[in-house]
Amino acid sequence: MVKSKIFKGKDVYITSGFGNRTYVLNGKQVSDFHYGVDYGTNGIKLVQHAIEKGKIKHITTTGSLGNCIYIEYPRLNKIFQHAHLDKINVKVGQVVDNNTRLGLTGATGTATGIHLHLGMFPIGDWNKAYYSRNWEDVSKYIYPEKSILEVAREVINGKWDNYPKRKELLEKAGYNYNEVQKRVNELLSKKKSIDEIARDVINGKYKNYPERKTLLEKEGYNYAEVQKRVNELLKK
Ligand SMILES: [Zn+2]
Repeated sequence: MVKSKIFKGKDVYITSGFGNRTYVLNGKQVSDFHYGVDYGTNGIKLVQHAIEKGKIKHITTTGSLGNCIYIEYPRLNKIFQHAHLDKINVKVGQVVDNNTRLGLTGATGTATGIHLHLGMFPIGDWNKAYYSRNWEDVSKYIYPEKSILEVAREVINGKWDNYPKRKELLEKAGYNYNEVQKRVNELLSKKKSIDEIARDVINGKYKNYPERKTLLEKEGYNYAEVQKRVNELLKK
């Protein structure tokens, strides 16, 4: 299960990942390289949104991609390709953001069911031929339903296990592991030692439970760990 800004947090599933794959089409086994990631929506024509501020670069309808939108995201330096839409609500040149309804997920073109085929490549590759573009695995790159900071705080609070399991879990949920871990390290480097923070707690800087827990976790501390040290210090 993946939560995505494209679907405003509605549950979708990766039905086919990026890269080499073998599948059955019209009763025949086919092997190919999949230049995108397929997100199944349980047969529902879910509304798709832009993930952040961008611009509609191109709209096309072909036999294989069906109704297809290309969105340019300057901040990310990427172009996203949304294929197989049932209906398109935007126009070329339109400026979009996460509140823009791009259209409905569908099964136009070559598709065995309702899904979003999401491709991604660098903006600079636009003028290259289709297969010469550096298509990238969008599932490993971006899906922050939560912000990187929120996820980094969860990592610190123990919700995402340890490496290498942490990497696997984060990537499965659509986060870029390196990006999250970088933020985790930044937060941790700013942190005081457990002893220092426990003393701050004793000196009243973190109020009382449950507010104390919220405040500590906001700063990236593990509440249980700090409180344990507080109790130890108070016993002395
Ligand atoms: Zn696909």
